[in-house]
Amino acid sequence: MHVIVIGAGVVGATTALSLAERGLGVTVIDRHAEAAAETSHANGGGVTPGHAEPWNSPGIARRLLSRSGSGEPFRIHPHALPGLVGWGLRFLWQSKAERYYSNARHNTRLAVYSGQCLKRLRERHDLRYDQYTDGSLELYFDQAELDHALDLRRRIGDPGVEIRVISVDEVLAMEPALAPVAGRMAGAMLLPLHESGDACAFSSEMLRCAEELGAQIRLGCEVRRLERQGDRVIGVRLDGELIEADAVVLAAGVASPALVRSLGLKLPIYPVKGYSATLELEQAELAPTIPLLDLEHRIVTARFGNRLRMAGLADFDGYNRTIRPDRIQVLLDSACALLPRLADEIRSGRAETWAGLRPMTPKGPPMLGPTRVPGLYLNTGHGSMGWTQAAGSAEILADLLTEKPPAIDLDGLGAP
Ligand SMILES: Cc1cc2nc3c(=O)[nH]c(=O)nc-3n(C[C@H](O)[C@H](O)[C@H](O)COP(=O)(O)OP(=O)(O)OC[C@H]3O[C@@H](n4cnc5c(N)ncnc54)[C@H](O)[C@@H]3O)c2cc1C
Repeated sequence: MHVIVIGAGVVGATTALSLAERGLGVTVIDRHAEAAAETSHANGGGVTPGHAEPWNSPGIARRLLSRSGSGEPFRIHPHALPGLVGWGLRFLWQSKAERYYSNARHNTRLAVYSGQCLKRLRERHDLRYDQYTDGSLELYFDQAELDHALDLRRRIGDPGVEIRVISVDEVLAMEPALAPVAGRMAGAMLLPLHESGDACAFSSEMLRCAEELGAQIRLGCEVRRLERQGDRVIGVRLDGELIEADAVVLAAGVASPALVRSLGLKLPIYPVKGYSATLELEQAELAPTIPLLDLEHRIVTARFGNRLRMAGLADFDGYNRTIRPDRIQVLLDSACALLPRLADEIRSGRAETWAGLRPMTPKGPPMLGPTRVPGLYLNTGHGSMGWTQAAGSAEILADLLTEKPPAIDLDGLGAP
């Protein structure tokens, strides 16, 4: 059986390896010359199954209004409003309590399974992607926020992720870099199963391993359209070339909806822009080692060797990929507030800045598996969790394509 995977971001590259490991013929195609050149390129780096709930928890409309603006974590750009209305209404509709908790359970189930798959991948292959596998800290500067987060977790139910509430002293013992802000901190959650790593390096590792198993890697090739015979998708059309396959897996991130529109499929994916800044550290001893999530500023940090990644923000800006200086400033100011000893380095102008578009569904969970078009499978719409959910999503696609029952219930995770 020959399978084409469209997209060599973290989702597509991992899928290519899972399929190759099952002995399938695989061709992975990406329009860029390198793996992970789009949303997987410089994301927050967190593999965080204990924090996989969608963003639209009950009360999201109020929170969006109160924390939206040029200096805030969220920003809705007026020009994007016409394209946002339909998706936005569905996003708000899904925030109703029973829908939200159900979506959160689906997303978390996949993320937890994915964490297990990632560990097994490391056992099977020698992977190097600046991984850190000793947990993460979620920092709260407001007791009410911490109580709210715990209540949310309780309502989602036990996802199989250990969460320990720890004191500020315990935080400092684990992460001395936080000493300057300890006085303001209300508490933290330690999530021992969490990990971090460079998703871009990981994606390249996935392609390397897939290629060693015989996969064809076609970088720098744009899929112009899916090729059909009757109702069935039989391959993809590149410039001047048809590649035929028994099945096509769409893992094209925010480009996924455009590729299947002509087949009558409407994928509800909105590109929610986020930003990151990556600093080559001069004073590495002042920087945190453990991955952090700062719930006050809504930013994350992760260490990749001597580099510090800072990421966050959610802009509704359509498909505009511009790195807006004012938004980078918000990210850097937030990072300085969390890590004041590093402020001079962070503000030095040395950090490499980046913006990427999260392929977000209004429900939260991605879309996995067969579509109503024979031969076409989805592995897309992972929103803010693509790195966290990549390994599990890949295994699920490999199960479905080899007619094995997936290891987890796919309720709430299927194609629309
Ligand atoms: C600021 C920020 C921080 C984030 N932090 C985290 C985090 O800490 N943890 C986490 O789990 N997730 C995080 N995410 C989300 C995560 O990065 C995404 O969910 C993930 O990268 C999506 O991967 P993907 O492979 O689906 O998409 P992409 O990485 O965008 O890959 C899609 C690929 O398809 C290719 N493609 C598209 N169309 C075509 C075509 N026609 N022909 C050929 N190739 C095509 C593209 O070139 C691209 O390489 C973050 C996102 C952002 C923006």
